[in-house]
Amino acid sequence: MKDTRRTVIAGNWKMNMTPAEAKALVTEVAPLVAGKDKCDIIFCAPYVDIFAAQEAAKGTNIKIGAENVHFAAKGAYTGEISAEMLTACGVEYVIIGHSERRQYFGETDETVNLRTKAALAAGMKVILCLGEVKEERLSGITDEVVAMQTKLDLKDVTAEELKNVIIAYEPVWAIGTGLTATPEQADETCGVIRATIAKLYGEEAAEAITIQYGGSMNAKNAAELLAKVNVDGGLIGGASLKAADFAAIVDAAQ
Ligand code: PEP
Repeated sequence: MKDTRRTVIAGNWKMNMTPAEAKALVTEVAPLVAGKDKCDIIFCAPYVDIFAAQEAAKGTNIKIGAENVHFAAKGAYTGEISAEMLTACGVEYVIIGHSERRQYFGETDETVNLRTKAALAAGMKVILCLGEVKEERLSGITDEVVAMQTKLDLKDVTAEELKNVIIAYEPVWAIGTGLTATPEQADETCGVIRATIAKLYGEEAAEAITIQYGGSMNAKNAAELLAKVNVDGGLIGGASLKAADFAAIVDAAQ
């Protein structure tokens, strides 16, 4: 039931923000979202910003997450960061499988699955991103695409581990484009993902899992999207860089 699921509003800063800017933004957002306890509020930050953002978020209801994690525990993977490194820094949440990682950095469902399993094994909470590209939507195969991604990305993830997974449905054509899925499209496709979870893990798990919508969510369209029965929150890119806009989305989730 939507009422019993946790709503999660998460910002994805992407490759934006110096540590000083991160600190300033969290400091500005904190009073605007204080006491808004109907949703979890997270900023997923570039690695170098994590400490500054955590410092500013101390004593607030804002949590700081990361934007990616490698699947190996340690070793010769120059430029990568392990789940153990993140947890050692007090990071609980991590985005995995963002479409920009899939599009520009060769991320596949296989590596998304490996990263997901590594993060879950380390006790982290995963925001698992998936969604169709424009051609897939236009060809009428969105449902098949998101169902397949859900299955592949969660391969060998146990029912117990699934409790630490949030799925972010992000139609690729809506990310950073100003194009938003209609509330009906978002609801329908989040519903397909939920039905796939039901097939894989049972009805109870499907009813419990938080499924966010992401793709040009903003202060204006958030309330309508978040009102939909299968939409349990938002993953927000551009609008998470502006304190007032992000706070308005948190308000819409109350
Ligand atoms: C995102 O980066 O996950 C995202 C949804 O971006 P935007 O809100 O800018 O479309």
